[in-house]
Amino acid sequence: MSVNQQAHTGPPYGQPQPGYQGFQQPAYGGQSLPGAPQSQYGAYNGPVPGYQQPVPPQGYFPSLGFPSKGSPVSLNSDTSLAPNFIGSLRAPPTSGAPPPASGASHPSGHVAYSQFEHGDVQNGIPASAAPMQRPPASQPFLPGSAPTPVSQISTFQQYGPPPGSVQQLRNHMAGMTIGSTAASAPPPAGLGYASVPPVSGSVSATGSGLYTPYSASQGPPPPSVSQALPVAQPPFPGQTIPTQRLPAQVPGFTPPPPSTGVGPSSYPPTTGAPRPPAMPGPPLPGQTLAGPPSSQPNHVSSPPPPSTMAGLHPGPPMSGLHGPPPPTHPPQPGYQMQQNGSFGQMRGPQPNYGGAYPGAPNYGSPPGPPPPPKRLDPDSIPSPIQVIEDDRNNRGSEPFVTGVRGQVPPLVTTNFLVKDQGNASPRYIRCTSYNIPCTSDMAKQSQVPLAAVIKPLATLPPEETLPYLVDHGESGPVRCNRCKAYMCPFMQFIEGGRRFQCCFCSCVTEVPPHYFQHLDHTGKRVDFYDRPELSLGSYEFLATVDYCKNNKFPSPPAFIFMIDVSYNAVKSGLVRLICEELKSLLDYLPREGNMEESAIRVGFVTYNKVLHFYNVKSSLAQPQMMVVSDVADMFVPLLDGFLVNVNESRTVIASLLDQIPEMFADTRETETVFAPVIQAGLEALKAAECAGKLFIFHTSLPVAEAPGKLKNRDDRKLINTDKEKTLFQPQTSFYNNLAKDCVAQGCCVDLFLFPNQYLDVATLGVVPYQTGGSIYKYAYFQLETDQYRFLNDLRRDVQKEVGFDAVMRVRTSTGIRATDFFGAFYMSNTTDVEMAGLDCDKTITVEFKHDDKLSEDSGALLQCALLYTSCAGQRRLRIHNLSLNCCTQLADLYRNCETDTLINYLAKYAYRGVLSSPVKTVRDALINQCAQILACYRKNCASPSSAGQLILPECMKLLPVYLNCVLKSDVLQPGPEVTTDDRAYIRQLVTSMDVAETNVFFYPRLLPLTKADVDSDSLPAAIRNSEERLSKGDIYLLENGLNIFVWVGVNVQQSLIQNLFGVSSFSQISNALSTLPVLENPFSKKVRSVVDMLQGQRSRYMKLIIVKQEDKLEMLFRHFLVEDKSLSGGASYVDFLCHMHKEIRQLLS
Ligand SMILES: [Zn+2]
Repeated sequence: MSVNQQAHTGPPYGQPQPGYQGFQQPAYGGQSLPGAPQSQYGAYNGPVPGYQQPVPPQGYFPSLGFPSKGSPVSLNSDTSLAPNFIGSLRAPPTSGAPPPASGASHPSGHVAYSQFEHGDVQNGIPASAAPMQRPPASQPFLPGSAPTPVSQISTFQQYGPPPGSVQQLRNHMAGMTIGSTAASAPPPAGLGYASVPPVSGSVSATGSGLYTPYSASQGPPPPSVSQALPVAQPPFPGQTIPTQRLPAQVPGFTPPPPSTGVGPSSYPPTTGAPRPPAMPGPPLPGQTLAGPPSSQPNHVSSPPPPSTMAGLHPGPPMSGLHGPPPPTHPPQPGYQMQQNGSFGQMRGPQPNYGGAYPGAPNYGSPPGPPPPPKRLDPDSIPSPIQVIEDDRNNRGSEPFVTGVRGQVPPLVTTNFLVKDQGNASPRYIRCTSYNIPCTSDMAKQSQVPLAAVIKPLATLPPEETLPYLVDHGESGPVRCNRCKAYMCPFMQFIEGGRRFQCCFCSCVTEVPPHYFQHLDHTGKRVDFYDRPELSLGSYEFLATVDYCKNNKFPSPPAFIFMIDVSYNAVKSGLVRLICEELKSLLDYLPREGNMEESAIRVGFVTYNKVLHFYNVKSSLAQPQMMVVSDVADMFVPLLDGFLVNVNESRTVIASLLDQIPEMFADTRETETVFAPVIQAGLEALKAAECAGKLFIFHTSLPVAEAPGKLKNRDDRKLINTDKEKTLFQPQTSFYNNLAKDCVAQGCCVDLFLFPNQYLDVATLGVVPYQTGGSIYKYAYFQLETDQYRFLNDLRRDVQKEVGFDAVMRVRTSTGIRATDFFGAFYMSNTTDVEMAGLDCDKTITVEFKHDDKLSEDSGALLQCALLYTSCAGQRRLRIHNLSLNCCTQLADLYRNCETDTLINYLAKYAYRGVLSSPVKTVRDALINQCAQILACYRKNCASPSSAGQLILPECMKLLPVYLNCVLKSDVLQPGPEVTTDDRAYIRQLVTSMDVAETNVFFYPRLLPLTKADVDSDSLPAAIRNSEERLSKGDIYLLENGLNIFVWVGVNVQQSLIQNLFGVSSFSQISNALSTLPVLENPFSKKVRSVVDMLQGQRSRYMKLIIVKQEDKLEMLFRHFLVEDKSLSGGASYVDFLCHMHKEIRQLLS
């Protein structure tokens, strides 16, 4: 290393940061990076790929229209930028800078390679023919380079179901005690995270033969889950109601009588009995709907206009207070609902909706007489299924091209391809609105939160191009002098290309000589298409040593496997299972590019009350164990031989993994420690001077005498009290401090829990959560039923793409700024999101607030920069850019919202709120905010002639149904069967979910399997989540990302039962099955392929639960029929919609 000879361009994040100061820079002249082989950018597992990128269509300009200044700015006009014009004080480019003459001569070396191969189609999929050798990464100034091999899709494989495992296990559901935490009498948990209690019987672990290893994989699963604790817990904002009154009430409007379902009556106790089927009534012609004529009252929208106005969603007529709609926005139908009784079907006796919503004392009070039967027809209210289906039909066929500012992407439930033409793919960033109010007042008036859900390392489908890796040479990425934003498509080059004006802060910065390029007649650099950072929304920069901790390039990370060997872990067969699995799994550690082997080193620890370290140095004949019994001051007893290369130490590791189960086979030790385990891993990584991940397999509450010792403080009596929040809070701050140390070292913790009773997930989850890790929970783990799920999760977790020592900063253009963050991370200041590890499944949700006015002309910009260490130890920056529109009309805001993203944000906001506020307060605040959002729309954007009607913005017509699902979720309204650990677990999971995951988690997918076409690859069309949609003669599948239920009606044909379950009658179906039997008939194959397809789409292996109609387990299943009233008192969709209408009317009056 030599001392940096160049002027320092500033720390990566623009402000002094410990650990990033005073960096030295090595002579960077082409030496290879430590731990980073020359070929680290090749496609994974493949030959040297060709990295040409097709040329964008002629005449297409990704940044067209933004910034609005299309032509080069003259020197004179530049000087008018005085306050920001720092760049003008600098000397003009000197040696090395090409002359600022016009013309398109390429400086030598700048055209050596272009990833935009001419003559190819569109931007995006690289042609696989004509492979081109990519230049070495260390070669400076070479534009483009090659795609970063991000995704490891091709290596991720899922376990198939066990061959023919038709296990007839006895169902012990009947004997369970609700609420018991005793291991011998587990509660009837089974809601997703909780598991169906164990079936008694002998458990044997016989090793790898128990499962089918590494069967063919499914598609790339979406993001995963993790844990969440708040960085800050601001109170719910005090929401103010617009005081402006409606011009007039519609004469015909009368408040709805109680009989419509909004009256002050209360719920009768829920019996769980199915609703009476809807009485067949005349079709609803929408007779009283005020909207445009529509034959489908439950979905009155016409298909969005084809994409000349890309992303424009239809909305209701804009004839409200703002006058006639602008000509570019044709009048759109909206959902409207009247409460006068002429709308909706006559229905059978229905529980009425409680007056004091929800959590009110009368909630769930004894039943009154059956209320009058007039009700809304569920078919007439907005249907999630219809909205999803319409979006698929309208937007699923065309690629989503990101070249236009402010486009609303297709829904997450739509399959679509993305072509990056200057904005980040929605797979990386989704926003609550793509057209944001120009002023803070407008934003407050609407109450629509402005937030982006960012998944920086998202996995892309194979058809899409991975981000290119750009090397700007030894001076590092080109950045704005002032705000330190990275070079991106929205920077404006001026003065013939010698300077650029920052699109975020307007500061003018000199173009470094080596980066100079001439401009064409439109003011665009002539190398525009050769440089990803000028033409694409997402790309990566190779980071220099300036971006590294302690002024050193990082070492490759390490994985440390830490296995609980206490009595429960051994007895259940878990220890043996893990050891057997690791023998093969270690060959699948993440690799980079076409590296032959992973650079990741591994280490092993076992523990109960004491810790056992293992020396697995390759020169040893046998592994050596070192015991540390003083857990109060943890240290690592060996350095050499603890972290090893898998291939070099293969024999010793295999021997160790064979011996561990034997060594502890007769253990009587039941107590465990926990914090010292993390400390040991942390110390080991510190000693090795590297980042890494701890995989901890843990079974019980750590009650042994040691730092971080916990006590059982579970108390369900706290539910619905002001102290309920303590159930979500850690019981000691010890783990917060430990997490902070872990983040500083880049020590990420993934925690696999196998509890038989309460183990305080809220506390144990603190370190995984704050280090960017994941928690997996297998309650009442049983080898037969749970091993496939666990092994699939473990395998995916070990293999998945992950970055270490990550710091994320979101920059914004003037006028808005990132103010709040949600996710699994740690923050030591107000702007930098720090994660010891960040994997491909984790999302960070960022909220923005105004600090100035925005302009419709220039719009608003986001730039997310993630600095991280790759699995090979290379330091990189991943950049995502997104441009949004700005509006002065509220109607434009409401037309460009994305409800799924809005729900993702609201759920995370609420789930953080429960840490500091009573749950009821949180629920009420959610309802209030959404009522205000809809009331503002109603008041400002909808026709004033329909005051008595519920009018929902087209883009938000599902807001009530989805919001109700969030309100009824186990965190905010737990049922009696949900444990404290379940709630803490779910709370943390949701906080890192992406939009697709929250969508299916809150509104599960329900598929009629008996309607599936056995000759087609497609899924059967989904139906709405309500019991009345189920037929006794059919079989259904319901999935929510954590569970798959297979529900079998009592009248299902015997032949179908035989084909699917291999038994001859309904009564013989075992609901202890954890997989479907493998039977050779089309129906069995079809159903199993549907299950496999769904498993492949999720980041966790879902638990399969067989539910027979009228069986006890059906109670669990019904919990997920989210349009119905829930056992825990959650409102039905119809009732909630009426309630929202009432709230909105109150706000408007
Ligand atoms: Zn700037």
